Amino acid sequence: MKIGVYGGTFNPVHSGHVKLAEAYLKGLELDRMLVIPAKTPPHKRVAHLASGADRLAMCRLAFPGTEYEVSDLELNRPGEKSYTVDTLEELNRRYPGQELYLLTGSDMFLTLDQWHESQRIFQLAVMCVGEREPHLQERLKTKARELEALGARCRVVQLEPLVVSSTQVRDRVERGEPLTGLVPPQVEQYIQAHGLYGNGDTSGPF
Ligand code: ATP
Repeated sequence: MKIGVYGGTFNPVHSGHVKLAEAYLKGLELDRMLVIPAKTPPHKRVAHLASGADRLAMCRLAFPGTEYEVSDLELNRPGEKSYTVDTLEELNRRYPGQELYLLTGSDMFLTLDQWHESQRIFQLAVMCVGEREPHLQERLKTKARELEALGARCRVVQLEPLVVSSTQVRDRVERGEPLTGLVPPQVEQYIQAHGLYGNGDTSGPF
């Protein structure tokens, strides 16, 4: 079985994430995909970080299909940081003998060799990246060759760009603007119902 491992902050999950997951399922012929919200974003400070429970709930609404499993594995792990290597070790124990495919964005793929225990990551999973910016394609291919020289297995998947980010979604909520087309409708309803991202709140960004 081929299992995709899709981590992110998902603050909130948006239609770009859903489209990316669909492209990976098809492009890599995956049997399943694990969607794993991170506890704290390792490299960035985020205004309005919704609780783990809210981010999990929104991911479950955005990924209802049986091929997806939204996992609280990182949110429930003790400790402040979520290391990808720990997640992959855990999945390797849970799914022995299955092939794991780590799905990364281009920004992350370009720095993979600097990640904590990158050599072990390369043993545990196939490194996958979606090409969405045409000007990055050559850089990603060159990087894939570099990583392969270090022992990684790499796959580059073609993507149709969908210009949306969680930052944009949070900004629109704060300004009271509609989210039509940017997040699945059930996620928009959840954000409104739970008053997330400063939706009508004046308590400041953190
Ligand atoms: P933020 O705006 O808060 O930085 P984000 O929109 O980049 O968030 P993340 O949860 O950090 O969302 O992203 C998880 C993964 O999804 C990353 O690998 C990222 O590159 C990828 N991703 C995010 N937005 C898109 C998009 N529009 N199309 C394809 N991939 C995306």
